[in-house]
Amino acid sequence: MIKRLRSEYGDNYSYVIYSENSGEAGLVDPVSTKAVRRFLSRNSLRPVWIVNTHGHGDHTGANQEFALGSETEIYGHVKAAGQIGKLDRKLRDGDIIELGEERLEVIHTPGHTPGSICLKSSDYLISGDTLFLAGCGNTSFGGNTKQLYQSIKNKLRPLPDRLKLLPGHDYALKNLKFARKFEPDSEIIQQKIDYVKGTKVSNKEPESILGEEKRYNPFFRFDNLNLIGKLEGLPDSPTGWDVFKHFRQLRNSW
Ligand SMILES: [Zn+2]
Repeated sequence: MIKRLRSEYGDNYSYVIYSENSGEAGLVDPVSTKAVRRFLSRNSLRPVWIVNTHGHGDHTGANQEFALGSETEIYGHVKAAGQIGKLDRKLRDGDIIELGEERLEVIHTPGHTPGSICLKSSDYLISGDTLFLAGCGNTSFGGNTKQLYQSIKNKLRPLPDRLKLLPGHDYALKNLKFARKFEPDSEIIQQKIDYVKGTKVSNKEPESILGEEKRYNPFFRFDNLNLIGKLEGLPDSPTGWDVFKHFRQLRNSW
């Protein structure tokens, strides 16, 4: 089972993976401290591990608050060790993290930071700051745009359409409006904007699956000829990388 919790400070998401039978929980980026604490106590859960999707402070800042001495281990990618601090387990691409019946595969997705990871189950993808609803992470704080492109192209886009996207922040509305700039007539983008606005009214979190992202997320559509035809300022016969970089630069200043 997994629960998404929004931070009381803004747009960060934390995730709690848990087993009702054992009372054990795994915390992913547990910065939504009040919400996480309340959820753990209401369900009588104790954290056995914490995993950080990368080393930025808005994802790691509450590790110590939830690490109950030696009972709770802290996991992160080996390349994020310098930022996260002492890691009880240094993760690498392909590693499996378990919580009861739940198995999460570690996918190393450098780009937003060198040590960024995503976590894949059979139902969902926890994507940290690598992939957002209708967008992707920036590379302005220790990142590398070429690596981000390669991670998205080679590791995330090929994943099954059915996987639910569980990102590290809610930037959905802003990202969708950015996507609409290039395709003002796109029905799917407008429908998703209307849906996301509706979730604000009903106090729900905007959801999506990878199959949807493939239809409107510009950072998944760097080789879509229709979309490329609408862009200005690209070289003749642009590569996927040219298009991705173009979107990333425009989004940075948008
Ligand atoms: Zn970050």
